[in-house]
Amino acid sequence: MALTGIEIFKMLPKTNCKECGFPTCLAFAMALASGKAELDKCPYVSEEVREKLAEASAPPIRPVKIGMKEGVKTIGGETVMFRHEKTFFNPTLIAGLLTTAMADAEVDAKIAQFNKLHYERVGLILRPELLAIHDANGDAAKFAALAKKVMDGSDAGLILCSENPDVVKAGAEVAKERKPLIGIATPANADAMGALAKELGLPLIAKAKGYDDLAALTTKLTGMGLKDLVIDSGSRGLREAFQDQVVIRRAALGPKFRPFGFSTITVPAQMTDDPVMEKLYAAVFIAKYGGIVVVNDLSADGIFPLLLQRLNVYTDPQKPMIITPGIYEIGTPGPESLVAITTNFALTYFIVSGEIEGSKIPTWLLIQDTEGLSVMTSWAAGKFSGDSVAHHVKKCGIIDKVKTRTLIIPGYAAGISGDLEEELPDWKVLIGPREASHIPAFFKTL
Ligand code: SF4
Repeated sequence: MALTGIEIFKMLPKTNCKECGFPTCLAFAMALASGKAELDKCPYVSEEVREKLAEASAPPIRPVKIGMKEGVKTIGGETVMFRHEKTFFNPTLIAGLLTTAMADAEVDAKIAQFNKLHYERVGLILRPELLAIHDANGDAAKFAALAKKVMDGSDAGLILCSENPDVVKAGAEVAKERKPLIGIATPANADAMGALAKELGLPLIAKAKGYDDLAALTTKLTGMGLKDLVIDSGSRGLREAFQDQVVIRRAALGPKFRPFGFSTITVPAQMTDDPVMEKLYAAVFIAKYGGIVVVNDLSADGIFPLLLQRLNVYTDPQKPMIITPGIYEIGTPGPESLVAITTNFALTYFIVSGEIEGSKIPTWLLIQDTEGLSVMTSWAAGKFSGDSVAHHVKKCGIIDKVKTRTLIIPGYAAGISGDLEEELPDWKVLIGPREASHIPAFFKTL
């Protein structure tokens, strides 16, 4: 049975030396208990204790890193079934599918399209991360050439998929500096594919149909010393594949069934030829519980909604998305420019700043700390009051930057204007529009 953080703490050295990256042994013990740290990070645990803790401290779903040109992406490491219980940590990676059966022109077009899929939203870059190369004909030279094309033509991480170890090896030699995910290990080729993954030090896809065979396969591979596995349950029908995701996650988190303690790869690209259905399937696996989804169609109108869905599912529900309070320059404002204020809820900031930018009127935008609440909510909670706004205006430094003394407040906070004028007698308070989309027209009237 899993140990509690306090039980683990009792077995740690209690020197608080911080070498594990945590400020205290207790913090490290708590992280171990929740599967967010690995015991190896503490160099001072005795062998005897190490053995005792190994089972209790291993993350229920092992995090696996897959390389991209710049940096790595992690899948797995999840600790809950439902996001509201805590949060999901490592977003599902989205992969586009290339196969050795595709003509060169088609491959080039897909790589070019993949490279275009970058969107900025609430200060984050949203994009698919991986290209999966599927061996369609056992041709190692062709497989390696395709891997090279991806290496040269994009910054994507790679998934190299073949049941033939020689083909995978040819591709991995070309792509090894990017630390690709390789596969596919099956019950039939587990020895050879496991040995290859071990030799190359790369994460491996383990694929078997049926829970018993899948558990036997991952047990065999971990017995060979492989730790970084990604499970493919082999199902290519929506109902079965969805059920597999739930069963695997539940088995890993509930009874801590180690053979299923790995992230998963799901392949909507092999479930349907209809691009719309493919995206619907992908959306299902982003919500439940695919570590990777592989899609064939990379059209922007299919991928963008998936990226937004992923952003929502993997946003920590307990942490508001916030912007650092302060003074933000939109355009190049000067001493005579407009001064507006709003809250530090990220979505509010990005919508308001986007509309001001669209108006092409240089503006000083003051962002007040409202603990990530939107205008109406923070006003109702007393965090965007006449007092607090006046305090922010006085302290943030805007008074030294502008000669104007006109402050535009959000329309939904009109109720604070009286208090604000009392608190800021030198300032004229203007009530802006309620909807951000009306900002450009409003600003042009000033
Ligand atoms: Fe404690 Fe070990 Fe972390 Fe040092 S490295 S703080 S001894 S848990």
